Amino acid sequence: MKVIFVTGWVLSGIGKGIVAASVGAILKGMGHRVFCQKFDGYLNVDPGTMSPFQHGEVFVTEDGAETDLDLGHYERFLDTNLNKLSSFTSWKLYEEILERERKGIYLGGTVQIVPHLTDLVKEKIYLWAETWKNDISIVEIGGTVGDMENEYLLESARQIQQDLGRENVIFLHVTLLPFLGASKELKTKPTQHSVRTLMGYGISPDFLFIRADDPIPFDILEKTARACGILPHRVFPVPTADSIYRVPLQFENFELSHKIIEALGLEKRHCDLSKWEKLMENIQNSKEELHIAMVGKYNDLEDAYFSLNEGLRTAGYAKWKKVKLDFINATDIEEQGMELLTHVDGICIPGWFGDRGIEGMILAAKYARENAIPYLGICLGSQIMAIEFARNVLGITDANSEEFYPNGTHNIIRIMETQKGIMKKGGTMRLGTYDCIIQKGTLAEQLYRTIKTSERHRHRFEFDPAYRELMEKKGFVVSATSPDGQLAEIVELRDHPFMIATQAHPEFKSRPTAPHPLFLGFIEAMK
Ligand code: GLN
Repeated sequence: MKVIFVTGWVLSGIGKGIVAASVGAILKGMGHRVFCQKFDGYLNVDPGTMSPFQHGEVFVTEDGAETDLDLGHYERFLDTNLNKLSSFTSWKLYEEILERERKGIYLGGTVQIVPHLTDLVKEKIYLWAETWKNDISIVEIGGTVGDMENEYLLESARQIQQDLGRENVIFLHVTLLPFLGASKELKTKPTQHSVRTLMGYGISPDFLFIRADDPIPFDILEKTARACGILPHRVFPVPTADSIYRVPLQFENFELSHKIIEALGLEKRHCDLSKWEKLMENIQNSKEELHIAMVGKYNDLEDAYFSLNEGLRTAGYAKWKKVKLDFINATDIEEQGMELLTHVDGICIPGWFGDRGIEGMILAAKYARENAIPYLGICLGSQIMAIEFARNVLGITDANSEEFYPNGTHNIIRIMETQKGIMKKGGTMRLGTYDCIIQKGTLAEQLYRTIKTSERHRHRFEFDPAYRELMEKKGFVVSATSPDGQLAEIVELRDHPFMIATQAHPEFKSRPTAPHPLFLGFIEAMK
């Protein structure tokens, strides 16, 4: 068993997840079976209830785990599906310890962070490698070295290295080189201190990945290597890339594949990154701009919609189009009107919760419908599309959703009977993958090129089938449903070039090298 631990320092958000995922892509390019796993030190059960402002998007796996945004990077870079075992928070681990304690499993012993919690972490890492039959496991430790809440994770990692040997377990450490504008200098001292801190935990990193906005001069790489006691050829510069998908290629320019393989005592193999090269070629050929209005509850939430943004952008590259996402605050539409949308080629209403900005979103959907502008609705965006149609085409002027107006008389979006009573906030939604049957002769069938598919979900409310017949008579089409025909999965308009929406989150299944058919169709429709 081979394990690569990834740690980071100075601050979060420097791209530790992208480094882990890129190393994974390279190992995969050599034909290894590699999967990524993440441990976070915080005490939330999972990121499901965390604010996207603080934490970015909640990424949902096939089996319905609400996980960290980094899991999305792993899935996209490794082109593989992960699961519940790929993501743990301290709370989840503590919960298991407490359950075992209540069952008397510890036989009256004193339950402690070391060895009980650390043993549990090791158990999770070993179990996961065994379940997936990994050649190599990449384990990212969330937060930064020195955080009180993840000290036990570092101790677990240290023990794994002790158990399995240095030739089987290596550490990659990602740090930031701050640039001081006044003296025009890249400073290596924080990195040096971070390595020292890591050594205090009994871990000496094997590889360093140093982040900076601009290219890092060779002498700085050498200086950092010397000061940190790391072999110079194992210090990798990570300047900010024009695209995150260039990162594996940047690493491979410095022969990362050979160096990692050497560190893990594996045989050299050719590393095939041709699909990333092809993607970069497509990016370079994408000159013509397409503007998509992302009409949401807030603007400027790059991380909150990370997978969706990437899904749309990479679908653009596949068609040699440069997608520009214009984040438009739906409440601004309520105040300033359609002016805000006149320049766009397409309108997307992404998923969200709560009633803020809903009327602005409905106005945007109306504008798309009446002006034949391509529209793609994601989850909430499908509910908005149905409400708009019911209000303005059927004349049900008070059509609404139970989420925004609990006592409304025409709540065409509502909690289904089977889901009633689960209004607790965490972990109560329709989560994970569900099968979906597509109606023949619809736009959905044309795009998916199949009549049976499955998509990942994360929502509570559904389109009320009682309104289906009425709506369909006027040109609203429920083009895909759950296998029992009850839940509307995809909806579209008959008399519109491209107005389609899904109750699911296709962005979680879209891959940069294989963008989702709904996104590709949306891009095509905007030409
Ligand atoms: N708030 C809506 C629901 O819970 C939509 C959720 C979403 O867009 N993910 O049904």
